[in-house]
Amino acid sequence: MKKELCDPKNVIPSIDAKCTTCGKDAVYQNQGTRYCRNHFVDYFENKVYKTIQRFNLIEPGDRVCVAASGGKDSTTALYLVSRYCRKYKIECFALSIDEGISGYRDVSVDAVKNFCNVQGLRIYTFTFKDLYGKTMDQLRETMLKEHNKRPCSVCGVLRRRVLNVESRKLGATKLVTGHNLDDEAQTFIMNVYQGNMSHNAKMGPISGLRQDTKFVPRIKPLYLVSEAETKLYTQIKGFKLCYCSCPHSDLSFRRFVKGQLNELVKILPNAKYGIVNSFLEILPDLKRKYRPSVELGECETCGEPTTQKRCNACLLEEKLHSDLKNIGEKPKASKTRKKAKSIKTRSKRG
Ligand code: SF4
Ligand SMILES: [Zn+2]
Ligand SMILES: [Zn+2]
Repeated sequence: MKKELCDPKNVIPSIDAKCTTCGKDAVYQNQGTRYCRNHFVDYFENKVYKTIQRFNLIEPGDRVCVAASGGKDSTTALYLVSRYCRKYKIECFALSIDEGISGYRDVSVDAVKNFCNVQGLRIYTFTFKDLYGKTMDQLRETMLKEHNKRPCSVCGVLRRRVLNVESRKLGATKLVTGHNLDDEAQTFIMNVYQGNMSHNAKMGPISGLRQDTKFVPRIKPLYLVSEAETKLYTQIKGFKLCYCSCPHSDLSFRRFVKGQLNELVKILPNAKYGIVNSFLEILPDLKRKYRPSVELGECETCGEPTTQKRCNACLLEEKLHSDLKNIGEKPKASKTRKKAKSIKTRSKRG
């Protein structure tokens, strides 16, 4: 049975303090400054727009695709990026992937379709079932029992390929993701724990800026806002969306690291900012150290960009011994675009 969306207005926390700027009841404080609802919204939106400008995430002539799942992060990214694009007359649309996670993704995909309807945004939807022939719910059992693989490691690889292939076919020059400060701090620490420092060289607010037309650069406008700030923003704005967690995420390494960092901020409140700012400082050095040794080619099976002979998605398909369908462009052109459901909703500017 489908879950209901939460009523965001019922869960806004209140703090026993007044806004530093106007003296109204505060809902948030950070580094000694307290914010009422209105001033928090200003603070949050300014931080996102400054991130877009500071890192040149969106430029005139871009065609921007937002990977929108219906969760709080990607919905916030979709809302703010689409407003930014309207202001500067830049094309923007949403792309949603339904991995087939019952009681979770079906709820959130409905939410993002409704959101796009209200905002007058075009949305393209794709499903794992159509593209690969199986849902994540079906793949989970095979992966765990026969391959000892965590669901997220498979889901992430398969989803990233869909995002790149389909956004490119739709003509996108930038692909927006809803990654926030918490996500980046977690990823950095995960790579450190696993000794994968070279993977950190590919991170940052913009990635995939290669001389390779098959790779759509990914941008992260929420890079410097925390998960808690994003959640509060969506609650104040009253977005109708899915706040629940994926039922498969309890098995993820990320969830473990997330728990560790959340414990850490209890004694060191700015730890996540510290990690991400330190990372940004060393990022140019990491890129210098690791980039020249990595050459990007094309997967010999599907033709997608990869630094290996075959891309991770193709290796995964082989490992799973499944009947997943290949969606790349080689050796024959994909037909998946025909399966995309494009919904152009009524025009209503938000
Ligand atoms: S939590 Fe893991 S399984 Fe669930 S949608 Fe995210 S990557 Fe996929
Ligand atoms: Zn105020
Ligand atoms: Zn491949």
